[in-house]
Amino acid sequence: MSESEKYDVIIGLEIHIQTNTKSKMFCSCPTGYFQKEPNTHVCPVCLGLPGALPVPNKRAIELCILMGLATNCDIDKEIYFDRKHYFYPDLPKGYQISQYKRAICTDGYIDLKNGNRVEIERIHQEEDVAKSTHHSENNKEYSLIDYNKSGVPLIEIVTKPCIKSAQEAKEFATKIRQISRYLNISFADMEKGQMRCEPNISVQEKGKWEYKDGKILPIGDYKLNSKVEVKNIGSITAVEKAIEYEVKRLVDDIENGKEIIQQTRGWNAEKGVTEFQRSKETADDYRYMPEPDILVIDVTEEDIERISSEIVELPDEKTERYISSWGISEYSAEVISSTKENATYFENLQKVLSPKLGEKDAAIEASNWLMGTLYSISNEKGITVSEMDIDITELALLILSFKEGIFTKNKAEELLRECIENGKDITAEIENLKQAKNDTSGDIDNIVEECIVQNPKAVEDYKSGKDASIGFLVGKIMQATKGTANPNEVRNILIEKLKR
Ligand code: ZN
Ligand code: MN
Repeated sequence: MSESEKYDVIIGLEIHIQTNTKSKMFCSCPTGYFQKEPNTHVCPVCLGLPGALPVPNKRAIELCILMGLATNCDIDKEIYFDRKHYFYPDLPKGYQISQYKRAICTDGYIDLKNGNRVEIERIHQEEDVAKSTHHSENNKEYSLIDYNKSGVPLIEIVTKPCIKSAQEAKEFATKIRQISRYLNISFADMEKGQMRCEPNISVQEKGKWEYKDGKILPIGDYKLNSKVEVKNIGSITAVEKAIEYEVKRLVDDIENGKEIIQQTRGWNAEKGVTEFQRSKETADDYRYMPEPDILVIDVTEEDIERISSEIVELPDEKTERYISSWGISEYSAEVISSTKENATYFENLQKVLSPKLGEKDAAIEASNWLMGTLYSISNEKGITVSEMDIDITELALLILSFKEGIFTKNKAEELLRECIENGKDITAEIENLKQAKNDTSGDIDNIVEECIVQNPKAVEDYKSGKDASIGFLVGKIMQATKGTANPNEVRNILIEKLKR
């Protein structure tokens, strides 16, 4: 019996996201700390000085609610904050202001492609801690702390233990990142620490456990295996890799009769392994207590309505619409809608092409150009499609001219590249080619004749059975017509003439 037939994988995810606000969660210090001089964005509140009083950031709470609405959560009408105590140098107050019994958002979900539903237990509002770095110099070890990050708004998304594979965890995290970016909740750049994923993982024997009310329960006298938590994961791909690694490690341990202890592990991206950090025999005691310095905040129906109006069409809905109303392939629809920027570009191009091509053909043409030429140029140059700075109406003109048969697709792509690389004027170039086509269109016959005379070797080869040399001749003629002739037509004329 293979291991995957014997064991089920059970994953829960905790995702922390720094939300896009100008100022910190409980003070007016600016949030943009990236590459700023350490300890310049600080005040008595975010330094945790005695007597300083926190004032909640309204926008941060709105963004937390927005994430809840976008993930089908219930929104609490009264917001309470709590103190979560632990002692660590990056937490100068000795506690983090967070939420304990009541989270702003509860009972949400996101549906995955395979139809499985990831249930979201809660999304709560809290604040980030400072950043510590550890150094050693002349055999002396020391740590430095930068409080610029202390107090930056964070939301924490907690799923129930209902994710069944590394692949599902990756898809869920990707969707959360897409929603964050589509709704401007966060840039969610994992490399910059704006989004942090911490999976907890256990493996249990099939048929010996059940999932009930968000909990994993043993059946009969089965003893559940402990779960492990993995921290420090720096990318969504690493979330998948870390889980895959951990599942294999857990299964091996169980098969070898080792007991799994509840523990926290770190992901070592360089080595591609998880490493033991600390064991966790009982749940941490954070001595939660209500935050006495912040009054209960009421959320009204009007607030919810106003925040809802920030919800735009999300990637899943876009994908669905591209497929059902325009007949775009599922793959293309998913790729295009994966970023708001590309989806907007695609929809604008479709709109400009529509009057000439009709809605569906316009969409298919736009999708083909985006998925083909535009993405390949964008990958080559390491810039996004909008950074290419091509005017959509000019691009549409180019596509329509190609559709009219004024030039070939190769020529059109070549032209587009030249325009991006050398800033050539697309409209003027198209005019030139139109002119060239008019000039040569009556002459195709002559050009073909001339080509036959000038390339006796290729003609000879073709006549002696080397069919490939016809391609060479067609190429020569296409060159002579500056790519404006129809290659199929040229080929037919050529074959006709060579028969004689
Ligand atoms: Zn401050
Ligand atoms: Mn947290």
